[in-house]
Amino acid sequence: MKKIFFIALSIGCIATSCAQKKAKATDYKVDQKSVEATLKFLSSDELKGRMSGTKELETAGNYLEDIFKKNGVKPYFATYKDTLTNYDKATTYNVIGYLEGADPVLKKEFVVLGAHYDHIGIDKAATTLDSIYNGANDDASGTTAVAEMVNYFGKMKNNKRSILFCFFSGEEEGLLGSRSLAAKLKKQDFNLYAMLEFEMVGVPMKRDILAYVTGWATSNMGDKMNEYAGKKLVGYLDVEMKYQLFRRSDNYSFYNEFHKPSQTVCTFDFENFDYYHHVDDEYENMDLVAMTNFIQQMVPVISGMVNAPKGDIVIKK
Ligand SMILES: [Zn+2]
Repeated sequence: MKKIFFIALSIGCIATSCAQKKAKATDYKVDQKSVEATLKFLSSDELKGRMSGTKELETAGNYLEDIFKKNGVKPYFATYKDTLTNYDKATTYNVIGYLEGADPVLKKEFVVLGAHYDHIGIDKAATTLDSIYNGANDDASGTTAVAEMVNYFGKMKNNKRSILFCFFSGEEEGLLGSRSLAAKLKKQDFNLYAMLEFEMVGVPMKRDILAYVTGWATSNMGDKMNEYAGKKLVGYLDVEMKYQLFRRSDNYSFYNEFHKPSQTVCTFDFENFDYYHHVDDEYENMDLVAMTNFIQQMVPVISGMVNAPKGDIVIKK
């Protein structure tokens, strides 16, 4: 009986698209199985550490492209693959998807959601059995989080601002993919509202915040994220300056080109995970429940970001 009622309700919703109109970000449930599948595939040995310029990274890129296709997220350029050349003169790709905003005015502004899907490959000098840098936390986890945002916004299509979903290559070689893309977009008069990179979100923080945001003082983004969440969700990390975190991920490429709010959200605090750039940064060492919860908590935050009135998130310095 329940099932029949559910089917009838679903048909009714498709007919009137009421599910899309009335669904709230807080009602949405992130599917842990989907998080698991993406994280597991990206960090699998099969992809050999996802080094830029390798066919294995291209395989990862094709997987991400399929997530765009399944959710009706279109390419921003002629194809999803935004080509660049790395230091070895090898061709590699950012994978870029575009979801147009639903508001006639706000859709001219873009929220960029990014994560790097490349990692550092194989340790050729390894003397142990495991020589693959799987990069589950860095940054298959962030890539998975952005993929879940594609799942959410692709299905709902309730974003007033346009969204550019970016899976970057060459981050590990000096932010190559994001530098190339940000420079290209700048030349095209791209109207950036804000950029948020997802980095290392596979292991929870043992602190009173869910995650920290780099470059906290550069804009009001962190405060606004807490406002959209309706609680204190994010904060800043005490050792941020020491490690120069604001400059160490793809957000910095956008900050440099556009001087608009461009920051990274992260849960790795140098105390909760021993395997940064280590062969043991692998799927088995991720906390899937915590990671799913992190993504779940970020849904209303990103929803607030793409739907906020004009000028809500602003640069400070
Ligand atoms: Zn990273």
